Formats: sequence, structure tokens, C-alpha cells
Amino acid sequence: MTLPRFAEIALPLPLPRPLHYRVPEGLAPRITVGHRVWVPFRNGRLIGYCVGFVPFPEIAADRVKDIESLLEDEPILEGRLLELTRWIAEYYFCSWGEAIEAVLPPAVRKARPRRTITFVKLLQSADEVRARLAEGPDVKPAGDRILRYLLEAAEDVPLAEAMGRLDVTASPFHTLARRGVVALERREVESDPYKDVPIRPHPPHALTADQETALAAVLSALDCPAFRVFLLFGVTGSGKTEVYLQAIARVVAGGAQAIVLVPEIALTPQTVARFRARFERVAVLHSHLTEAERGDEWRRIRRGEAQVVIGARSAVFAPCKRLGLIVVDEEHEPSFKQENTPRYHARDVAVMRGKLENAPVLLGSATPALESYQNALSGKYALLSLPRRVEDRPLPPVEVVDLAREMHERRTVPLLSHTLEVYAREALAREEQVIFFLNRRGFATLMTCPSCHYVHRCGRCSVAMTFHKRSAIALCHYCGAETRPPTTCPDCHSKGLQFLGVGTEKIEEELKRAFAGTEVARMDSDTMRSRKSYDRVLGGLLTGDLDFVVGTQMVAKGLDFPNVTLVGVIAGDAALFLKDFRAAERTFQLVTQVAGRAGRGPRGGRVVVQAFNPTHFSLRRAVEHDYEGFAREELEHRREMGYPPFGRLARVLVLAKDEGRGRRAAEELGVALRSAVVAAAVVPAPAAGAAGAAPSPVPRVEVLGPAPCPIAKIKDRLRWHLLLKAPTPAALGRVLGAARADLRSRGSVDVVVDVDPVSLL
Ligand code: ADP
Ligand code: ZN
Ligand code: ZN
Repeated sequence: MTLPRFAEIALPLPLPRPLHYRVPEGLAPRITVGHRVWVPFRNGRLIGYCVGFVPFPEIAADRVKDIESLLEDEPILEGRLLELTRWIAEYYFCSWGEAIEAVLPPAVRKARPRRTITFVKLLQSADEVRARLAEGPDVKPAGDRILRYLLEAAEDVPLAEAMGRLDVTASPFHTLARRGVVALERREVESDPYKDVPIRPHPPHALTADQETALAAVLSALDCPAFRVFLLFGVTGSGKTEVYLQAIARVVAGGAQAIVLVPEIALTPQTVARFRARFERVAVLHSHLTEAERGDEWRRIRRGEAQVVIGARSAVFAPCKRLGLIVVDEEHEPSFKQENTPRYHARDVAVMRGKLENAPVLLGSATPALESYQNALSGKYALLSLPRRVEDRPLPPVEVVDLAREMHERRTVPLLSHTLEVYAREALAREEQVIFFLNRRGFATLMTCPSCHYVHRCGRCSVAMTFHKRSAIALCHYCGAETRPPTTCPDCHSKGLQFLGVGTEKIEEELKRAFAGTEVARMDSDTMRSRKSYDRVLGGLLTGDLDFVVGTQMVAKGLDFPNVTLVGVIAGDAALFLKDFRAAERTFQLVTQVAGRAGRGPRGGRVVVQAFNPTHFSLRRAVEHDYEGFAREELEHRREMGYPPFGRLARVLVLAKDEGRGRRAAEELGVALRSAVVAAAVVPAPAAGAAGAAPSPVPRVEVLGPAPCPIAKIKDRLRWHLLLKAPTPAALGRVLGAARADLRSRGSVDVVVDVDPVSLL
């Protein structure tokens, strides 16, 4: 075997391709693809990733630099994960090195030294130690106490802890070590952040007929094993999780591992507990973990010590040795899309990873993304349906209340409609619980002057600031800037500023006012900062100490409390006012999901949706629990407009502090992209001998814009965007590729490419 002489090194920078470095003789026998290396770059050095070898470098031999060293003896990425990062780089239009960085948790990426602590370990058997203690004379009293302590602990203990408990210095430990009675060992510590959560083992449910059919389909793919994508379309409360659990049980029995992706906000202790009740070794990748903890979990998974990995978006990269199944729960959730480079969609990455690992992928939702549903309709994915709730519980009846009419009658915009208030009182009287949903946090979303129409805006972003009453600040939800809430108008100096618009905080206050004596909790990112705060609310729901919970999307996900019999949606059509082609889909999803929290127990339940557009088809279909009907209608619009799933989009963002420079760059990009469309459409002449082969039809890629983004400024940077609309991903890739040189950031202007964008704001 010839030793490698030149290596391709991917660097975590926006470079068009990996760079070539010489492999010094000393490293040649050790370096493999997937190794992390130190390499010289410009005037310093960088960590890079070896992604391949070449016989000759692309640059003149005398200019090729040497790899300095390997960071570890082992490669940091296995072959198939590396392959996945290459796909991500190509598809999402970033560099290979940037894609690799997304796979590694920060603690691993930064090559931090491991946290190690010293443990004390008994080297003799308990009997020998007892005999020794009985003899006595040659050990000092401190030594005796240490030995008794170790005997009692019956396991290795951290040195610092033993010193503290016994109130002794390290010196008697060292004396014992010199005599060969104990050893002092430095070890890496691994934390299990969920170890204090009590687990009640839970046996599998006997499946319903629908669950049985769905599970059988997944098992047949698991037993092959074969790559296959399943879309488990099951109404809320139909027992999707039970299907996941039993499919995973088969994976684990076969000695393989499973990854379960859930949206960040659904990654609650309750969710994790359901998996821990069935499987012994569950690893959780949660954003509440410290970097070091995440690093620990990652290493544990890599050693094959976890059977199941649960996590949000980035858990799709969990370094499982033998991956048997990937589950994506709530696959329609927009939070699976990462909003910085690489801008990947975890569901789509999961599908690609399943393909590379030859493992089935199970996507689950009560409201599938239209992209996934269309793939099921076309036969690309296998559709599995759970059309009924378990134990024949009915789906809750949904009523829409016309806020416009009520406003007219009451001459004010009511926070709580008459209907919702009456039902809430009834629920209280029966000692049942109510969830109120509003997807906006804070107290008032607009601070404005009625005399001159001044609006209190963020100085750095083109958005109105939100008033947060409890912390008494005005807060920008885009950049986090805070100001004191204005008391007089800075423009006309009038005193009567109005605080308008409703957030969860105001609903909380209104509920406490209207229903004196009730226990109300709020669940949004302002109040749910730690696991303790979750535990408090979830505990309160469980014990019945809480009457009402008001919250943002957090209450729409995964809460399963049988005593919740009423769900109130404060502003059911709020999402319809966004300028986004997915507005109707978002509205249908949110209302259906949050409605799904009601009536999960034997007492049943109902849902009230307040809206200004009660007749909009997305609300009408949600009221009828008619996903298929909604999808049919919405897919029709999408087809007409060439929007996903019938076309592919890429959004090109241009960001600049300087208005003139930014606009110019955006306009130049428009020209460049339009000529790239022409260039990409040029079909190469058929090769000699292939005469008669018709050139493939030229795909039409549309370029829209540039235009200022709906949010024209964030963090002092002005924003423009262009939209590419292509019939296929290949056509899109070709146009982006042809414009690669123009799509680079330059000087003070940043260019960002977002393939399959989720947000168009
Ligand atoms: P989904 O995820 O589809 O909303 P869940 O998986 O949360 O539904 O299931 C709803 C409830 O029904 C849970 O409390 C679950 O334990 C229970 N459940 C699931 N499958 C069965 C079954 N076959 N028989 C009885 N109860 C079940
Ligand atoms: Zn004013
Ligand atoms: Zn701001």
C-alpha cells in the first residue's frame, strides 16, 4: 500500500473547496479520512478535517504547506457521517468544512481539554481492608477513617469529595497510595443531566389495529434492513409515540441504535421520561445542557453506550455506531430548519442520513408538512395513517368565535370572547384545566403615541419593541436590545402613550383579573428558562394545583394531560397576517396542534378559536379536523404558484450597514443570477457519436427581486433579498453553482444563500 502524500483538508471557512496540504512522512502511516488536523493557514494555523487524498496537489509543489499534526489518534468522523456533510455542503451551498463543523458539538469542535477529576480507588478487597483495619497500628487514624469511608461507599469516590466529607488533606490519601492500598486516578467525568429524574418503567401498550398496521410496515423495513421513508400521519392523541417506542424496541433488540428528533420546545422532561420508561440507556441532547455536558453525551453515544438518542435538530448528527432507525416527531415543525450556516433542515438531513446508513426513517405528524405529504401522495414516502385517537376518544369539537363581530357589539377588542369566558368558568367549576394559546410573548406588542403616531422601535432593527411588564422593559425580539419603556412621546412630548397589541403576559394578567383566585401559570421563553420552571408547570397540571396555563407554542407541543378539557386560542389567525406563502399552512398546523391538547382524557374536551377571519379555509378545515381537505386546497394554490412542494426555492439575502452599497450589491446579484439562469440552461452539445440525442429540456428558473426584506433592518444591518424559484432541486443547484463567484460575501456586504427557506421575513 502506498502512503498518502497529499491530503485534501476541509477548513471551516466559506471556501469553494478543500485545500491541498502535504502529508509529512511521520504522519503518513497514521492519517486517514476523517482525522482532525492542525494546518498552517495564512499567517496562523487552523483546525481542518482530512476529507481525502490526492496523488498531486493542485498548486505548485513548492507552495504546498505541510500538515502540522493530528489532533487525535482516531478520526473524529466516521465515513458515512462525513459523506453526509458532503451532501449538506453541496445541497445547502456551504463549504464542506462548515458542514463538518455543524456535526460536531462545540465542546468537541473547540478541542477543549476534557474536564478530569481525581478518583480514589481501593486496590484491596473489602476483606483485606477489614483485616488491615483490625490490625491497626501501621495506619494513621486519618488513614483508618479514609478506608472506612471507602468501604462504606463501595465504589470509587472523587478525591475532593472524600477530603471534604472527612475533613482531611490530600496527604493521607497519598500515603495510602504509596503503600499500595488505594490508587489515585485522573478520570474524565461524564454527567447525566437527567439522572435525578425519577423513572417509572412502563410496559408497552397493546396496540390498536391502526397502530399495529403502521408498526408492521416499519418493522418489515427494519428487519431487512432497508432504507424507506414512512410518513406516520396520525391525529393528535392517536398514539404515534407508542409506534415509535415499539419500533425502537426492535432496533435496540437487534443491537442497533435509534435517533429521535423532536422540536426543541417539545423536548420536555415529560417527553424524555416516556422514552426512559422503556429503554435503559437514553442519551439526551438538549440546549439546556452546558457545552461540556453536550460533549459528554456525544462521546457516550460514540462509544455505543446509548440505545436511543433524543434531541432537537442537531441530534440528527449523533455519532451512532450502528444506526437502525431515525424518527422525526412533529416533522412539520419549522424549528427543524437551522437559521444560520449551514442552513439545513433536520428532517431532510434525516432522510439523507437514513439513505446513507441504509436505515428506515419515520416521520410523524398530525399535520404533515405539505412537502412530506406530497411525497407520500406521489409514492416516494410510504403513508401510514392513524385516523383515530386511542380508546376511541373523540377529537374535541372546535368552535370559531368571530372577534370582529364581538368587537362591534362590545365596542372594544375583547381579549377573551364571551364564549371562551363562559366555557372557562364551567371548566373551573368542574375543577378541570384550561390551556390558553397565544403565539406572542410580552405584555403589549406596540407602544405608540395617539397624537403623532410615533412607534417605539428598536434602534437597531426595523421592528416595534414589545413591552414586558414584569421586567418593566421594552424589548426587541430580534436583537434583544432593551430600553426603558417610554412615558412621554419623544416626538411630540404628549404624555398619553398607548400600549397596544396583546402578548401572553397580558392574557395572564387578564385571566387573574377576570377569574379571581385561580392559579395561572405562564409558559413562554421568558418564564421557562430552566428545567425547574418546566417541572413546576407540568407538576401543577398533573396535581391539579394549576387551573390555567397560558403560553406560546410551548403549550402546543407534546403536553398530554387528561384533565385539560378546554383549549382557548386567543388569536387563531395571527399567522395569516404574515407575508409568507406558508401562512395558511402555519395557521392550520398551530390551531390543530394546540387543539390536540384538549380532551385527551375520559372527560373529553373542547376548543375555542378566536379569529378576525373566521371563514378562512385554513380555520374552517381545522375546525372540521380535515387535514386532507386542507392539503388538497392548499396544494392547488401551491401548484398554481410554483411554490414548494411543486418547485424549489432558494433565498439570497444581502446584508449591509451602508444603504447604497447594500442596494447596489443586491442589484448586481440580480443581474448575475439572471445571467446564471441563462448560463445554466445552456445544454452542452451532444458528444460525437451521440448524434440524435435530444438536448434535455431547459428548466425555467425564475429570479424574483431584489427587494427589501419585510424586516428591512436587523442589528443595524439593512436587508435585501432575492428569490430563486426552480422546478427541481437540480435546476436550482445548477443556477447557484453558475453564480458561485457572485454569491460570496465581500468587504462590508454579506451574501447568504438559504436553500429551501422556511422564513421569508
Ligand atoms: P400522539 O403522539 O399521537 O399525540 P401519544 O403517543 O401521545 O399520541 O398517545 C396519547 C396517549 O395514549 C398517551 O397517554 C399514550 O400513553 C396512550 N396510548 C398510546 N397508545 C395506546 C394504546 N394502544 N392503548 C392505550 N393507550 C395508548
Ligand atoms: Zn407623539
Ligand atoms: Zn433590535
